[in-house]
Amino acid sequence: MIQIEDKRRCCGCEACRQVCPKGCIRLECDEEGFGYPIVDADRCIECHKCERVCPFMKLDAPREPQAVYAACATDEGLRKASSSGGLFTLLAEETLRRGGVVFGARFDETWGVCHDYTETVEGLAPFRGSKYLQSRIGESYRQAEQFLKEGRLVLFTGTPCQIKGLVHYLGRTYENLTTVDVVCHGVPSPMVWQRYLTTLRAGQGEITGISFRDKSLSGWRRYDFVAQSTGGGGVRQFYGDNIYMRGFLHDLYLRPSCYACMAKGGRSQSDLTLGDYWGVERTCPDLDRALDEDKGTSVVLIHSAQGQRLLEGLPCRYQETNYASAVAGNPAIEHTAAEPPKRQLFFEQINAEPLDSLIARLTATPLHKRLWRQLHHRAHRIKMRLRRLAQRSH
Ligand SMILES: Cc1cc2nc3c(=O)[nH]c(=O)nc-3n(C[C@H](O)[C@H](O)[C@H](O)COP(=O)(O)OP(=O)(O)OC[C@H]3O[C@@H](n4cnc5c(N)ncnc54)[C@H](O)[C@@H]3O)c2cc1C
Ligand code: SF4
Ligand code: SF4
Ligand code: SF4
Repeated sequence: MIQIEDKRRCCGCEACRQVCPKGCIRLECDEEGFGYPIVDADRCIECHKCERVCPFMKLDAPREPQAVYAACATDEGLRKASSSGGLFTLLAEETLRRGGVVFGARFDETWGVCHDYTETVEGLAPFRGSKYLQSRIGESYRQAEQFLKEGRLVLFTGTPCQIKGLVHYLGRTYENLTTVDVVCHGVPSPMVWQRYLTTLRAGQGEITGISFRDKSLSGWRRYDFVAQSTGGGGVRQFYGDNIYMRGFLHDLYLRPSCYACMAKGGRSQSDLTLGDYWGVERTCPDLDRALDEDKGTSVVLIHSAQGQRLLEGLPCRYQETNYASAVAGNPAIEHTAAEPPKRQLFFEQINAEPLDSLIARLTATPLHKRLWRQLHHRAHRIKMRLRRLAQRSH
């Protein structure tokens, strides 16, 4: 039976829990807010299925993609509503058009994040946009398997370790399955996110909407974190000034497995990988200008012939580039975050100090750098506003 001795070797994919024939595995959150499997040994029949599906039991070698593209949706509205170039929605719409089912991550009623599926175009909206915390996979591997066995097309999206977990859970290939993972910085603790929400709610009323990557005022590169709440209140902050995003980007509260990732760099066995094409203005200057550079461009890594066929049929503009330039602009494609020495201190102090001051203290940026960043962001916003006005007057 499965036993977690090293937390770095469990990504919380729940493949073990979903495969157990006796239903004797449950996930329990630790003091950092990450779920780990616990087995009821009295009911276990020692079938070892949980060990066989665990993605850590068979580690794959890194894989370079077969092809690399800079791409984005031709629909400007969709591009704006998506974190990068809107490729997820295009792939999903194509799957639905062919009678398929799409799995992705959405907010739940407490603004936590869980995996779910949809069979309608309207049902895609909740999956759109990156949510920077760990998504609970729930029963989605079982549900996907059921659809696959019925012969339905399935598009399954998630982090690389969630895709690797699915591949191990299924234990065989399906021609009607397409898997898409994201370039993954790592997933923050859902418990830290809930604590951050408590500070947000104080004096703000109920939260009605959250976007980790709002492009509407500041564009794609210098996006805002936005939370709307009842009574017109809420928060809009440049991501570098938002305290939750700051802790996330300083790697302060990622899942332990994210400091020893076994799935990124093409090891998840996905058909395609999607991320931001940072540096597209250097790699494809003509495409960047033609696309209006700050609306979002995706990096698309193709790992299979099926992935290539899918991309070619989509309503998007794309240009082939190369892997080296994609990784140079976006090291997270391969690079795993290093555990910061202050991470342990963060979790030791989390109950002793208000969250915002704790994160601010542990990620302290010198005052002159903060002021410079704020000034730069304001200037950038004015530039964006002037550009929008100029576009309108044409
Ligand atoms: C936790 C996380 C970390 C990321 N880190 C990076 C990074 O370092 N560098 C980079 O270039 N890109 C990163 N991305 C990917 C990037 O933010 C976009 O999600 C990706 O480029 C797809 O954008 P899109 O415009 O095609 O579609 P969008 O509509 O923006 O993408 C939505 C897709 O992301 C999935 N998704 C959203 N939240 C989660 C979640 N919590 N868990 C699993 N799946 C989720 C949805 O199911 C859907 O498939 C990260 C995404 C997540 C979720
Ligand atoms: S060994 Fe079999 S019965 Fe026991 S926990 Fe694992 S899957 Fe369940
Ligand atoms: S990585 Fe997934 S399958 Fe392995 S122990 Fe953790 S939750 Fe279970
Ligand atoms: S960094 Fe690796 S282990 Fe962490 S969520 Fe991403 S794919 Fe999973």
